[in-house]
Amino acid sequence: MEALLPTQAGTASRPWPYQPRPLPDELLSSYMVRLALGMDLKPITFLNTVWGSTRNLLAQDLDNFVPHRIAARIQMGARIQLDAVHSMTLPSYVGTLLTSHNPRGRNPWLLPITVDNNRRHRHGLQFCPICLATDAAPHFRRRWRVAFVTSCTTHGVLLRDRCPTCQEPVHQHAAASPRHCAACGGDLCATAPAVAFHDHLLWQTELEAALLRGWTLLAGEPTRAHVMFAIVRQIAALLVNGKRADRLRAEVSRAWGGDPAPYAKPTARQPIEYLDVSERHRLFDMVSRLMRGWPHRFVHVCNEAGLHRSHAIKDMTDPPFAYEAVLRAYMDRTPYCASEPEVAAAAEWLRRTQGRATYRELKRICGESREAIYRHMDYERRQATPSRWRMQAVLASGLVDGAIEPGA
Ligand SMILES: [Zn+2]
Ligand SMILES: [Zn+2]
Repeated sequence: MEALLPTQAGTASRPWPYQPRPLPDELLSSYMVRLALGMDLKPITFLNTVWGSTRNLLAQDLDNFVPHRIAARIQMGARIQLDAVHSMTLPSYVGTLLTSHNPRGRNPWLLPITVDNNRRHRHGLQFCPICLATDAAPHFRRRWRVAFVTSCTTHGVLLRDRCPTCQEPVHQHAAASPRHCAACGGDLCATAPAVAFHDHLLWQTELEAALLRGWTLLAGEPTRAHVMFAIVRQIAALLVNGKRADRLRAEVSRAWGGDPAPYAKPTARQPIEYLDVSERHRLFDMVSRLMRGWPHRFVHVCNEAGLHRSHAIKDMTDPPFAYEAVLRAYMDRTPYCASEPEVAAAAEWLRRTQGRATYRELKRICGESREAIYRHMDYERRQATPSRWRMQAVLASGLVDGAIEPGA
């Protein structure tokens, strides 16, 4: 394409001569860089020409919040729908990943880039070096700003969140090209990326599918995606922060593997979105092991680590019902009273497996349901006419009649 005079791109009401369609899952900031490069302009020149340099767009996270005048000018210039502009931004995750979006502050799941004085301080824009190196038009994906996305499910490698040469965060608008570092000019795709955990790739694929579909299966039940994501994030937070996090990780690792080492973090309590990509990859590998066969592994390790309902729900402003139901059913500290049919079934099971249903065993299984236990337990005192099952039990186990169970 012929080089444009910057003013041609800037003319307020004219469509631009280059009008690319957004690529699948393309991030708005990446699309804006493609627009600029397609018109032979440096991204910074394009931004300043079209929107003026008084409000420095480089100092904003346009993917997290795009002001209307900018979205409207892209709609006009590139002749795409306003919806298409918004669907390239992070607020478009409301309804699937998020329940609401805060344009000015932190959002669960969304990786912060923390811009200050044109500099990016956090490594919130990740990328797959193989995707960038092999794309016909190199572009950044919207999902690369999401905390659970730590690997590329196409190439099976770990994402990167910084320049491999100078370790600075990625800053597309200030760089020479989408695959070059703005700070040192190095190639972001240089050196081979690390291979991702195989099982983790399968798990992330499922989560990405849930993100597209808007729903998933949790314990066999169709569940809204944002509900599942809220549970996943809470479990991740329990493994990172809090007094019981160390024990919880140790139990998961002992029972189902995964690396139990503490996560590198500057403060005692910090959102999982602040961990770097390799730490999050390790973290979500553990989350995926813990959530397999939901909720039984989770309940088991919580019991082993002494984590009760009140801990499991900590810092959650609005726990989803699907999570609450699990905590209430398995982890509530108020003792559960087994119902009459449950006690009867437990007694029957004890007779089949141990020959008799003693008070002690029934109490261990059924808790405080004393009345029902007395009705279904096998008395160990002498009976004038022992029942048929009693005789069978005695014959089967070779028990000597006469022992009275403590508490009976
Ligand atoms: Zn890739
Ligand atoms: Zn660099």
